[in-house]
Amino acid sequence: MKLSVVVPCYNEEENIHLIYETILHDFSHCDFDYEIVFVNDGSKDNTYTELKKLLAFEQPIKIVNFSRNFGKESAMYAGLKESSGDYVAIIDADLQQRPALVLDMVRMLDDEPEYDCVAAYQENRSEGKFISFCKDIFYKFINRFSDTEFVKGASDFRVFSRKMAQSVIDADEYFRFSKGLFSWVGYNTKFIPYIADERANGTSKWSFPKLVAYALDGIFAFTTAPLKIPTFIGLLSVLVSVIYLIAVIIHNSVSSFYVVTYQPVLFAVLFIGGLQLTAMGIAGEYLARTYIQTKNRPIYIAKEVVTNKKEGNNING
Ligand code: UDP
Ligand code: MG
Repeated sequence: MKLSVVVPCYNEEENIHLIYETILHDFSHCDFDYEIVFVNDGSKDNTYTELKKLLAFEQPIKIVNFSRNFGKESAMYAGLKESSGDYVAIIDADLQQRPALVLDMVRMLDDEPEYDCVAAYQENRSEGKFISFCKDIFYKFINRFSDTEFVKGASDFRVFSRKMAQSVIDADEYFRFSKGLFSWVGYNTKFIPYIADERANGTSKWSFPKLVAYALDGIFAFTTAPLKIPTFIGLLSVLVSVIYLIAVIIHNSVSSFYVVTYQPVLFAVLFIGGLQLTAMGIAGEYLARTYIQTKNRPIYIAKEVVTNKKEGNNING
């Protein structure tokens, strides 16, 4: 199998047939075999029913049906894991991304073997100034404090070599922030611009609070810089208290006014408080690392995995 096309789906009942037909149409002249791996991410509408209708057709497809909504990150992970192609593409179900571009990406990987991934990024996103400003801050912060490089505008719309896909699968951490993981695993990625179309049907699953939560996921997954904040404040507080103490000593030795009985108490409060914050910051650093490491929950739970593929007997739902 040359290519697997992974399609994460959450409440996409009106788009299922459309994306399927579009892929088949755009791929009709391609000279290699491919499969489509749909991941039904706990949709509350008839997405799964629509997906199962596709099993009747010739085109090899696989459907991974989640037990609940685990989020697009988990859906992409499941898709990569259940795919068997030499290349794996990820594409949204809402037709904002054109399947025809996947073929161009595959061709690029064939022609330029130094690359393991071709990723599409949106040059001009049609979004509000405020959202754009917040995203700017996020990218500046995370690129300043994380060793991993985050490319602004980079999407999940990409094609991987099997080797790189396997590395992403091997990075099986629970709190997934794929844009970071795709960069963290290394390899060479070629970025190409694309223009996202309007959503065919339905509405985007993103709201501002969800975007904020997503950005925080990225920060917590790829930098421990926030843990350094109490350490920084603590050290600053210690410094201020020491300067304060020196000032008081000098003042008392040169001045005839000696009315500072509360000042040593103030010094002690600031000094001990500062030390405590510093200690908490350092301990938090270790705790966070241990905490992330010990999470062993599965990234997703599939109720069933269904396929119409002839080879293998992996139909279990
Ligand atoms: N999606 C998913 N699980 C979710 C949310 C979204 O699998 O919890 C899928 C969704 O069906 C679509 C893709 O992820 O195929 C992108 O979602 P959406 O169109 O809402 O995001 P946007 O294009 O607005 O960034
Ligand atoms: Mg979309």
